[in-house]
Amino acid sequence: MPLIELRDVVRHYQLGSVEVRALDGVSLSIEAGEFVAIMGQSGSGKSTLMNMLGCLDNPSSGLFLIDGADAGHLDADELAALRRERFGFIFQRYHLLPHLDARGNAALPSVYAGEGVAARGRRAEALLRRLGLGDRLHHRPNELSGGQQQRVSIARALMNGGQIILADEPTGALDSASGAELLALLRELNAAGHTVIIVTHDPSVAAHARRVIELRDGRVIRDAGTPPDHVPPARPAERPRERRGLQRLQVQWREAMATAWLSLKGNRLRTALSMLGISIGIASVVSIVALTSAARSTFEGEFASQMSGRIWLWTGNANLPQGLQPPPFTPAQADALAALPGVSGLMRERQTAVQARHGSREAFTQAMAANASLLADRRLKVSQGRDFNAYELSSGAQVILLDVEAAKKLFKTPEAAVGRSLLVSSGDAAGMGGVPVALPFTVVGVVESASQLGFSFGDDRLYVPDKTFRTKLDARATMGAFAVNLERDAEPQQVVAQIKHRLRALRGSEDFSMWVGDEAFRKMQTFNAAFAALLAGVGAIALLVGGVGVMNIMLVSVSERTREIGIRMAVGARQGDVRLQFLIEAVVLCCLGGLVGVALSWLAAQALNAAQQTLHVSVSWQALAVAFGVSSAVGLVFGTVPARRAAALSPVDALARE
Ligand code: ADP
Ligand code: MG
Repeated sequence: MPLIELRDVVRHYQLGSVEVRALDGVSLSIEAGEFVAIMGQSGSGKSTLMNMLGCLDNPSSGLFLIDGADAGHLDADELAALRRERFGFIFQRYHLLPHLDARGNAALPSVYAGEGVAARGRRAEALLRRLGLGDRLHHRPNELSGGQQQRVSIARALMNGGQIILADEPTGALDSASGAELLALLRELNAAGHTVIIVTHDPSVAAHARRVIELRDGRVIRDAGTPPDHVPPARPAERPRERRGLQRLQVQWREAMATAWLSLKGNRLRTALSMLGISIGIASVVSIVALTSAARSTFEGEFASQMSGRIWLWTGNANLPQGLQPPPFTPAQADALAALPGVSGLMRERQTAVQARHGSREAFTQAMAANASLLADRRLKVSQGRDFNAYELSSGAQVILLDVEAAKKLFKTPEAAVGRSLLVSSGDAAGMGGVPVALPFTVVGVVESASQLGFSFGDDRLYVPDKTFRTKLDARATMGAFAVNLERDAEPQQVVAQIKHRLRALRGSEDFSMWVGDEAFRKMQTFNAAFAALLAGVGAIALLVGGVGVMNIMLVSVSERTREIGIRMAVGARQGDVRLQFLIEAVVLCCLGGLVGVALSWLAAQALNAAQQTLHVSVSWQALAVAFGVSSAVGLVFGTVPARRAAALSPVDALARE
């Protein structure tokens, strides 16, 4: 059975309305171990025939058999497998990969056969040594002479066995000495059992072959057939076993990673610029998320502690006739509300205008009645001195707490205030019998807002115990405003309805207003969430733009490396191998960009934290993981089109591209 058989093979190209018949009914058969030269003028169809024989191309019609099996209707990956297993190509212009050294180039075919790094390196080295390149293992193609490059490509052709060696004008680019050397090598290989088919237009080269096939206009015009004294080789050229499963997968990924890395490293500026797009996208998303979540946890925490669980009440509302001043709430009304279900207690806010004096310094301000829960209710903390003690709260002692502002006004610094005494006279002395008297008070402490954001219900105040307030400053027990504290699981709307109902009954009309903290809080939360989503959307758009940039660069990369793709396919790369290579490159590019982006936002967070204390922004490990995931996804999404385009290239077209 012939090794290769063609029966009436036609290969035509459609150029617009013109049909070019590059091969026009070629029939021939080649036995294993033959040395065949294909001759003919330029344009006679030699290369087309060679591509057909080498399974780089399918015939348009006719029969193409290898070892008697139909090879004319195989898909791309099946053809790739045939090339890997049986063929070794030697090209006129060597077609070595410029970024790999001699050893890497020679070893390339076995990458796609799934052979491990160490094993294929050893075999490639042995082959190169046999071809006299033992001292050139780590030279790149541009550091080798033409003859040396051609020998590297012979090593590559032999790497997977090279049962059939196809050489298209192999001496075309060589000087005569190197050409003679190469032909001697091919003869040697033929003697060792390899089938050698060379294409040439040079009769002196063809003279080395034992059989010459001549083409003209796509037809065979001379072919003496297999020499009658041809002896098939005793044993077929040995070839390494193809690996499958996990090991092949591992080799495939490793090669894709290594190639991606080399390519990214080889185009540093371009890599950096396309990374920049992704970095900016990731940095903006991560920073925005970190910033809004920091802002939310701080603001919402503050607002929640101030507002939620409380209903404020005050007299008067917009529906009342102009000028009508409703009477203040009485203690009985407040107590009635305190007894309602869902209400845990009241925050009575009683205050009066006072004049405070220390030496020549004085302040007109508000004095507020304080009970034991004053500091907690109003989110205050003692910054100097101490809080009122139980005795002071119950005895009517003339002690006072100052707000920081008030302390500064009266004593210059808060530190100076504690332990000193003040004269306080009630502005509304009418309630005390009409005589404004200045009473001495001892400052026990200075308070300030415990809120990180500095929220407080008014600055510049004095606080005196409730008992003292009622007996010494303002005897009226009525209130213009107070707040109802809700029980934990109370439904604010129900309590509001009950309060309304109850107060209307007690006061005779609805002459008061209410403000529910939880509602305002919830509204604020919704607004915050919407705002955060909007900002994150802006970041996502930045990321999208970065992704488009990566796609663009990858498309450029594919078209620049078309020949590389062709070479890889010629030595047996599957479409999946090529696809993976470009996909990995896009993903690596995006992940690097993502890492830089996270680093940038981390730096920005540190700078922001160093510049102010109100917000603490942190870039979490989760953010890192998410950024990594998102970058990979962007790489996958935007790398798919270029990768598919690369994998869909036909090896013949890709190789022909310069
Ligand atoms: P040779 O290698 O003998 O110089 P080729 O096999 O390269 O000849 O080409 C044979 C004929 O087929 C030529 O006329 C050429 O123009 C045509 N041809 C080859 N490849 C293509 C192609 N991709 N598209 C259109 N025509 C082609
Ligand atoms: Mg040609």
